[in-house]
Amino acid sequence: MTDLRSDRDTSDDLGGSAPSYHMDPDEFRRHGHALVEWLARYMETVGERQVMPDVEPGDIAAAIPATAPEKPERFEDLIRDLDEVVMPGVTHWQSPGWFAYYPATTSGPSILGELVSAGLGVQGMLWSTSPAATEIENRVTDWLVDLLGLPATWRNRTGPGGGVLQSSASDSTHLVHVVARERAMAGQTRRLEFVAYTSGQAHSSVEKGARIAGIEHFRAIDVDENWSLDPKALRAALAADRDAGLTPLIVTSVLGTTGTAAVDPIAAISQIASDEGMWHHVDAAYGGSAMICPEFRHLQEGTASADSYTFNPHKWMFTNFDCNVFYVADRASLIDAMSITPPYLRNPASESGRVIDYRDWQVPLGRRFRALKLWWVLRSYGAEGIRHHLREYIRLAETVAARIEQHDHLALTAPVCFGLVCFRHRSGNEATIALLDAINSVPNVYLTDSSLGSERFIRVSIGSTCTTTEDVDRLWNIIDRAASEEDNT
Ligand code: PLP
Repeated sequence: MTDLRSDRDTSDDLGGSAPSYHMDPDEFRRHGHALVEWLARYMETVGERQVMPDVEPGDIAAAIPATAPEKPERFEDLIRDLDEVVMPGVTHWQSPGWFAYYPATTSGPSILGELVSAGLGVQGMLWSTSPAATEIENRVTDWLVDLLGLPATWRNRTGPGGGVLQSSASDSTHLVHVVARERAMAGQTRRLEFVAYTSGQAHSSVEKGARIAGIEHFRAIDVDENWSLDPKALRAALAADRDAGLTPLIVTSVLGTTGTAAVDPIAAISQIASDEGMWHHVDAAYGGSAMICPEFRHLQEGTASADSYTFNPHKWMFTNFDCNVFYVADRASLIDAMSITPPYLRNPASESGRVIDYRDWQVPLGRRFRALKLWWVLRSYGAEGIRHHLREYIRLAETVAARIEQHDHLALTAPVCFGLVCFRHRSGNEATIALLDAINSVPNVYLTDSSLGSERFIRVSIGSTCTTTEDVDRLWNIIDRAASEEDNT
């Protein structure tokens, strides 16, 4: 047999039994207990920490040797470095004072589900490579169809649609651009130039998805006074593109835009998509979680005729990253676009046609057992627990908005939707940014800003797992004091 290892180093060859470098179960148990204790303590005290780390670029890397260790290290030393090397460079997204971007929620059941999933270490690419991974994912995505009031035909068990977990909303959105393109090209002999459309307020992942799917043109459509896509502007863009000989391919509606949580008129966009024969995708990355509360479902009216829908439990459903839910109304078009079957993936279960092989629902082959943590979150909170907390965040956002409306120096910049409040200083951009800096100089809160045209504004995004009324009251006192400071000077 050929020895592929040229210049083979034989110095490590030992007589007798080979040493094991693996961590044995007893050691795992000991360190595991210590780490669960460490994490529980972190959760209890995260609110006391400074949210943003005080480090310069390169500081953390400088504390780590430039070359990997040749000799094994004691695991106690690795745990010690959590406090000494890692924590100084951690941004505390789980702080109750986290009001920046959108939340990236986690929770006890989710973390424990993640731990077990890592421990089982299964690859759920085919049903046969771990039936539980696939079937729990089937069930959990079916449950969410009902919990979010989505079309029953999107359930895996009734079809023709289906649900799957992806790593991110960006992945789902990219995927639908590829699938829409494949579907439109099927049987075509002439070369078409495709166009993808979405609101000018949509997340950048929509443009990125269109670009990497090779769609030739991308249109960011004008929005109305509420920052929602204007259907008249969409119709005008479509007419201009048709006149220019282009082929409208796909439109993405947004349920909760990234800047202001604006909601696009999904029903009107659905109608346009159907008139034009376009794929209609709904990006509900942020707003989708709130659909578990029936009182918000009118916002997604028209979704029943969408081709696909995506939302992020890793934003606002207490399930740590990564966990994105993706539905498609007709799974055959997805599978047609994604499935390639080499001999080594053939197996009797797949050939029986009785199982779902999720490798055909995504770009990569391998896949994690993501469903476990989501299953545990849904069972542990129950739908009522999730509703309770989301309603509470939304109520808190409304109280902040009401205070801003009554404030002499502050003004809302967009209608309040879900848990997001957008506001500015009445004196203009400079005062708005000075206000943001003043708020963020308080160590255990953190907010971010954005802009609408040339107007800068501050976002208060309420929804971190342990944020309470007291945290929001404290934030309001900080905002009020900083905004009123000019009165006192
Ligand atoms: N869509 C919207 C509306 C978002 O707000 C975001 C992120 O904030 C995304 C998509 C991207 O999400 P992901 O990180 O899961 O790709």
